[in-house]
Amino acid sequence: MLYISTRGHPDRKHFCEILLEGLAPDGGLYLPERYPQVDLATLERWRVLPYAELAFEILSLYIDDIPAQDLKAICRKTYTEEVFGTQAIVPLKKLEDGLYLQALSNGPTLAFKDMAMQLLGNLFEYELARRGEQLNILGATSGDTGSAAEYAMRGKKGVRVFMTSPNGRMSPFQQAQMFSLQDPNIHNLAVEGVFDDCQDIVKAVSNDLAFKRRYKIGTVNSINWARLVAQVVYYFSGYFQATANAGALTHAKPVSFAVPSGNFGNICAGHVARMMGLPIAKLVLATNENDVLDEFFRTGVYRVRSSADTHETSSPSMDISKASNFERFIFDLLGRDGPRVKSLFGEQLSAQGRFDLSLDPAFKQAGQRYGFVSGKSTHADRLTTIRDTYARFHLMIDTHTADGLKVARAHVQPGEPMIVLETALPIKFAATIVEALGCEPDRPAKFEGIESLPKRVTVLAANVQAVKDFIASHSA
Ligand SMILES: *Cc1c(COP(=O)(O)O)cnc(C)c1O
Repeated sequence: MLYISTRGHPDRKHFCEILLEGLAPDGGLYLPERYPQVDLATLERWRVLPYAELAFEILSLYIDDIPAQDLKAICRKTYTEEVFGTQAIVPLKKLEDGLYLQALSNGPTLAFKDMAMQLLGNLFEYELARRGEQLNILGATSGDTGSAAEYAMRGKKGVRVFMTSPNGRMSPFQQAQMFSLQDPNIHNLAVEGVFDDCQDIVKAVSNDLAFKRRYKIGTVNSINWARLVAQVVYYFSGYFQATANAGALTHAKPVSFAVPSGNFGNICAGHVARMMGLPIAKLVLATNENDVLDEFFRTGVYRVRSSADTHETSSPSMDISKASNFERFIFDLLGRDGPRVKSLFGEQLSAQGRFDLSLDPAFKQAGQRYGFVSGKSTHADRLTTIRDTYARFHLMIDTHTADGLKVARAHVQPGEPMIVLETALPIKFAATIVEALGCEPDRPAKFEGIESLPKRVTVLAANVQAVKDFIASHSA
C-alpha cells in the first residue's frame, strides 16, 4: 500500500516513511491511494478475533513495510488487558434498545486518544531502532493529547517528549497525570501563557528547519496517519459487538456511530472503516459550541474561526477553530481532486478563511453517499444529558461523550443500532460532573491520590528561545 498527499504531490510513499513525517511536502495530509475492501466473509472471519488480532488484520492491509510477525507482536504488546483494563479492550455497554456506548477510555490516560497513541509509541520505538535513529517529540497540549503522548512514549527507547502546556490552565487531574511522570525521557514544559502561545512556540521551532533537523524534532499530532488507522479498528469491533446476536449474517446489518468531534480524527477513522466496506449507515458528527463542522455539514460552508471566536467550553477537547483532519474527507468528497483541495485548503483558506461548497453537487454526497449527519450540543445540553443518563442508567458519562449522546438521540432510527463513542471518563472533567450531579465522579483506583504525587515540570517564559534552549540541553 502506498500513500499520497491530499494536495496532489506526485510522490508515493510507504507506511514507515510517513509514520515519522507528519505533513506531506506540499502541506497536504497522507491517505492510502485506495481503501482496501473487506467483504462479508472476511467480516465474519474477523468477528471472533481478539482485539489485538483484529488490529493486526486491519493494519496489515495498510502496512507492507513491517514484517507480519513484527507487526503482530506490536499489536499484541499494545492492546492488552493490563493496559486497557478489559479483555474486550473497547467493550460495548447497552443503554437501551438500539442505543449503545462504546468504551474507548479505559487506557492509561482515560481518554480515547490512548487507543491510537499507545500503538504509535510502539511503532516509533520499533522503527527508530530499525533505523538507528532518535526522535524528539515536541508538542503543545491543553490536556488530553499531551498526556496520551507522554503515557505512550514513557520509557520508549530512542524517543524523548517535550510537551508544552499553558501553566496553571489544565484541570488539576490533568496536571497531576502529566507532571507525576518521573521517566527521564518525558519533559513537561509549563509555559507562562495560554494554549495558543504553546502552539505558536511549537510552530516557530518546527519552522526553524536547521534546528528541526539538528535536534530531530517530530510531532504526534492527530494528522498522523498511523493514529488514524489505529482508530479504524474499534469501529469494526463496535460493529461486531452490536451485531453479535443478529444470527448468521447473510446480509450485513448496518449500524450507526455518533462521534464527539474536534479535529475530525476520530470520525475520519469511521469514514475510512465505511469506505473499506464496514456496514455503517450513518456517521453522526457531534460538536459543542465550536460548531465549525456542524455548520459545514448543514450548509456546505467551511469557515475557520478566529481565536476570539473560539469558545472555551466544558468539553474542552472539542474546542477547535479549524479541524485539522477535515481535508482528508474533503479530498474523498471531491473525487480525490488534489489540485482542487490544494486551492481550497491552501489559497482560499489563507486568503478568505472559508470556502463554500453549498452549490457544488458533491456537497449533497456528504450525507447521501458518505453517510454524514451532524448536530451541536451546548453546556446546558451536556448538563441535561449527564443528569438524564445518570438518572436512567445510573451511569456517569463525561462532557464530550454527553455531546455525542445528545446529538445521537436526534438521529436514532428503529432497527438500526446507534453506537456512541465514549471519548473520556468523567473523572477528567470533574467540575462539570459536580455541576450536573452535585457529586464527584468515580475515580479508578490507580488514580487515587495522584494530585499529591511529586511533580516533574519546568516553568518557562512564553518564548521560543527558552524552549529551544531547553531541548538543546536535554537531548544529548
Ligand atoms: C481529542 C478528543 C475529542 C475530539 O476528537 P477528534 O479526533 O479531534 O475529533 C473528543 N473527546 C475527547 C475526550 C478528546 O480527547
